[in-house]
Amino acid sequence: MKRVLITGAAGFLGSHLCERFLKEGMYVIAMDNLITGDMRNIEHLMPNPNFEFNHHDVTKYVHVPGELDYIMHFASPASPIDYLKIPIQTLKVGAMGTHNLLGLARVKKARFIIASTSEVYGDPLVHPQTEDYWGHVNPIGPRGCYDEAKRYQEAITMAYHRYHDLETRIVRIFNTYGPRMRLNDGRVLPAFIGQALRGEDITVFGDGSQTRSFCYVDDLVEGIYRLLLSDYALPVNIGNPSEITIGEFAEEIIKLTGTDQKVVYKPLPQDDPKQRQPDITKAKEILGWEPKVSRQEGLQITYDYFRNLPKDRLYEETNHRGFEGFSHVK
Ligand code: UDP
Repeated sequence: MKRVLITGAAGFLGSHLCERFLKEGMYVIAMDNLITGDMRNIEHLMPNPNFEFNHHDVTKYVHVPGELDYIMHFASPASPIDYLKIPIQTLKVGAMGTHNLLGLARVKKARFIIASTSEVYGDPLVHPQTEDYWGHVNPIGPRGCYDEAKRYQEAITMAYHRYHDLETRIVRIFNTYGPRMRLNDGRVLPAFIGQALRGEDITVFGDGSQTRSFCYVDDLVEGIYRLLLSDYALPVNIGNPSEITIGEFAEEIIKLTGTDQKVVYKPLPQDDPKQRQPDITKAKEILGWEPKVSRQEGLQITYDYFRNLPKDRLYEETNHRGFEGFSHVK
């Protein structure tokens, strides 16, 4: 049985990866420090004999007994609001966390994959973004702690690949959505759906002309799975090329939720990228991958998830619940 370590396992993407790797018949060692992760995302996996959870901060020395075939480093704050609240942790998990896990991968002779991001392209001057574009990043702006942590993460991963011959993979993830996103993390989709469900105005930042391209989480997980099993060490974009302005996106959410709230305009945050669309030629050629779930379909599933949550979750300030209250944690 293959054994995989997944960091950030209690987060949005991490929890979906845990499910997928369990389905593939692997033993999953989940790790999270629960700063932005939430045990409720993986609670249902706890009874599975092929699943274990370790409450640990990967910026500290990481010890995992036994063999490991794969290490997937998905721990990181990932929303602009989180970077503002916890910039140092964001830098540390990308830098020191990645270094610790690369060391672990060497010892275990495990294949290593990191969650990189379209943020390495910054506010891009090339559109759509291809993997060979070096980016347009402000290192000292509010997003700098995330963008530069992720760029460093790519650099140190390539150094271990070249210098130590480690098997490494780099996925550049574009905006992804689906069930288990945090309602209060400030990202545009949970923000809009949360506002609609609470009966608040829909807050579009700027004039709403900036674009994003949203990928449904199952499509992303499939792309990551294929990349991990491939033999390709250079970065690969995974995302849905269907691009939309944030203004149009707000209209879609209003239609989907049937809310009678109106759109209000707020100032555009500093360094907010004006456009973003993945060029997925490489993923198509190397992995035979392309997204399958339309935005209409994916948004419906995501909305159904959010509206079926207990009402009080809509008003939660933070989900930093920590370890307490989970006596069944192994
Ligand atoms: N945005 C918005 N209203 C909100 C939250 C976000 O208009 O309540 C905009 C934000 O300015 C950005 C886009 O939506 O242009 C996507 O933001 P998000 O934080 O989801 O991710 P990003 O792609 O910027 O990292």
